[in-house]
Parts: sequence; structure tokens; C-alpha cells
Amino acid sequence: MTPELRARARKTLARLEKAHPDWGPTLEFADPLQLLVATILAAQARDERINEVTRTVIFPKYRTAADYAGASTAVLERELKPTGFFRQKTKSVQGAARGIVERFGGKVPGDMEGLISLPGVGRKTASIVLANAFGVPAVAVDRHVARVAGRLGLTRQVDPDEIEVDLRGVFRQADWVKATWCLVLHGRRICNPTPRCPECPVADVCPYPKKTKALSSASRSTLPRKPTAGTARR
Ligand code: SF4
Repeated sequence: MTPELRARARKTLARLEKAHPDWGPTLEFADPLQLLVATILAAQARDERINEVTRTVIFPKYRTAADYAGASTAVLERELKPTGFFRQKTKSVQGAARGIVERFGGKVPGDMEGLISLPGVGRKTASIVLANAFGVPAVAVDRHVARVAGRLGLTRQVDPDEIEVDLRGVFRQADWVKATWCLVLHGRRICNPTPRCPECPVADVCPYPKKTKALSSASRSTLPRKPTAGTARR
């Protein structure tokens, strides 16, 4: 962890913040329990879909951890079906809720140790809840953060827990939450699995060796033309 790397990380973050000024949670929630449930549900699903389900079905009906713990599993599974992987998600939500009721008096614990002791809650989910519902500085490593941080040379690790340690070292503690969201949004919008490097605001400080290039006008002209109206295949 050199001073040069920290300086580059800081410069990179300032640019990403400018490019993604709307950084912050994209899941809707009003309290730690709602954020915990929404984050569990958000695995392998789009946040918009999760917000739709939580806003219309889940949050109006289930208000306390005891509500989830005591719910019929079959009913909750049916309600969570639109979020995908609904059986596993139901198990995780009810497991976490039971832990909260039985060991934390019905209140979501506000520390890492307590959160990760709940069934179905890993460090990523715990970090999101800590940072955004409790205001505790934390770095959450999802697939976007892992990919972008690796390409930007901020870590050489592949294990999320080790990536988290590296990112906590390169960014100032005061920037941990912002860095998480900026890396998430950059990964969703520009540094996709096939990165859009020509549009990237940090391309000049990114050491990734397989950057994509802008298509020349000559190559663009050889691309297949979009089908015109009336010729599209159905
Ligand atoms: S230059 Fe390309 S690989 Fe590097 S961060 Fe930007 S989009 Fe990702």
C-alpha cells in the first residue's frame, strides 16, 4: 500500500464522484430492518425490481422482525417469487429475522459481529446495512466493486474479504461509503464486464491492460446495419 497508490485512488475517486454524482443506496428503505431485507433480496436481481416488490407487498405487510419470523414460509415464498431465487431468499430473510428476535431483542444489531452472526447475512450485506442505515464507515464488495477495483489496480485480490481489506487501506475511512457506491455505479454503467473504456472518466489512470478502444468510422461502417421497419425478424 504505497503513498502513490493512495494518491491515485484519491484522484480516481474524485473523478468517479464527479461522473456519478447520484452515488448512494439504490434500494428503498426507511430503517435498518428494511435495508437488511432489501439487501438480502437484491442478490442476483435488479434493485428496481426489489423496490417494486418491497414497496408494494413486503414492507407494508411485514413491519417487525417478528412479523417475518412468524410468517408462513409458503406465503412469503409466493410473495418473494418475483425477486428470483425466492426459496433461498425466504430462508435467509426468515433466518435473519429469527436471529434478530431471539438474540437481539427484535432490533437489527448495529455492528459487524452481530450482523454476520445472523443466518444468511455475509460481510457485503452487513457492510451495506452498517454504512447506510447506521452511518458506520464500511466498504461493501459486490461483483461490480470487485471487478472495477481489480481493473483499476486498487487490489490484486480476488476474495471479497481481502478486496475489502485492500480498499479500506487505499481509501480514507471518511471515503469508504462513497468509494463503495462510486465503484458500484461505475461497474454498472461504464466498467461493465466488457468495459466501455472510450467513455471512461478514469481511463488515463487505469492500468487495465485490456482496455477497449473506440470503433473507427471504418469499422463502424462494416457493422451489420440495423433492420429497417418491415424487415425485422419476429
Ligand atoms: S478504463 Fe476501462 S477498464 Fe479501466 S476503469 Fe475505465 S472502463 Fe474500466
